[in-house]
Amino acid sequence: MRDQNIRIEKATTLKEKPDPTTLEFGTLFTDHMFILDYTEELGWHDGRIVPYGPIELDPSATSLHYGQTVFEGLKAYVTKDDEVQLFRPDQNVARLNRSSERLRIPDLDVDYSTKAIKELVRIDKDWVPKEKGTSLYIRPFIIATEAHLGVSPSKNYKFIVILSPVGAYYKEGINPVKIAVENEYVRAVEGGTGEAKTGGNYAASLVATEIVSKKGFAQVLWLDGVEKKYIEEVGSMNVFFKINGEIITPDLHGSILPGITRDSVIKMLEHWDLPVIERRISMQEVYDAHQNGTLEEAFGTGTAAVISPIGQLTWNNEDMIINNGQTGKIAKKLYDSLTGIQYGEIEDIFNWTVKID
Ligand SMILES: *Cc1c(COP(=O)(O)O)cnc(C)c1O
Repeated sequence: MRDQNIRIEKATTLKEKPDPTTLEFGTLFTDHMFILDYTEELGWHDGRIVPYGPIELDPSATSLHYGQTVFEGLKAYVTKDDEVQLFRPDQNVARLNRSSERLRIPDLDVDYSTKAIKELVRIDKDWVPKEKGTSLYIRPFIIATEAHLGVSPSKNYKFIVILSPVGAYYKEGINPVKIAVENEYVRAVEGGTGEAKTGGNYAASLVATEIVSKKGFAQVLWLDGVEKKYIEEVGSMNVFFKINGEIITPDLHGSILPGITRDSVIKMLEHWDLPVIERRISMQEVYDAHQNGTLEEAFGTGTAAVISPIGQLTWNNEDMIINNGQTGKIAKKLYDSLTGIQYGEIEDIFNWTVKID
């Protein structure tokens, strides 16, 4: 990138900060946003932090019709020493570029993009809520903006970063959720866009999620798109099972989103010398383990909830109650350790956090 500058145009009036105890997910936005433009002639250019607000888009913009978009999600936390820090932001920028590659979007300069995210959070630092469990959700994304209805990669793009203060995912401690195994709809297939963080994957998942939520389930567990036998992931989380002392998670084979929380959990379990295996795992295997009493724990992992214990898994109308519907020991230990690092309460021996000075 030729122009490494970030132009800053501050908002003249600042919004009132919300009450941190009533925060929801993704409904309020801060005073500023970051925008970077792309054209074929100039490449990525004109990086700027400007007041948060609507953007102008031609109605024929490629992203609106053919879904040429990618996004990321990470968080900023206030530590006990009143410092603001991010969790593994380099991983999010690297993954954004991998998603972009799949969607034929030009890649970003990793250092510049990370600097832009940090600079934006610094400017809206007072928006990072301090209450335990709350955080500032960071949403970097790229949209194709060329005014053209032809199906081809856009010539123009916008990389935008917006910030949203979010509430504690769990109000009182972590709570196990009920999950329905999805036998009809699929999320992704190998060769498709499952491993890219792109809007279309979510659009395709809405129907199934809506059906099960009416029956009281929090999410669906997706099976592979070909045989509907092998476990993929849960909603917007990766999934882990503890069977007979061994912790198993589906391997990344193209249709699963490579979660950063998933990677952190694997590294943490390895650090604790607990056996963790990435391999293909069928729903039948999990069912059999439940039948013979060796399914000890199940939990999802993702930036929003960090660790989400699964208390019930329902497959073909059969309810499997896992660990008496309680949070398992491993899930609890992972949750405490990861959030401990994120909120600066325990030493970050992995070097995962990045301070905003
Ligand atoms: C973002 C996402 C995850 C979790 O990724 P993290 O980096 O851990 O937040 C898992 N599955 C899907 C489909 C996702 O979009």
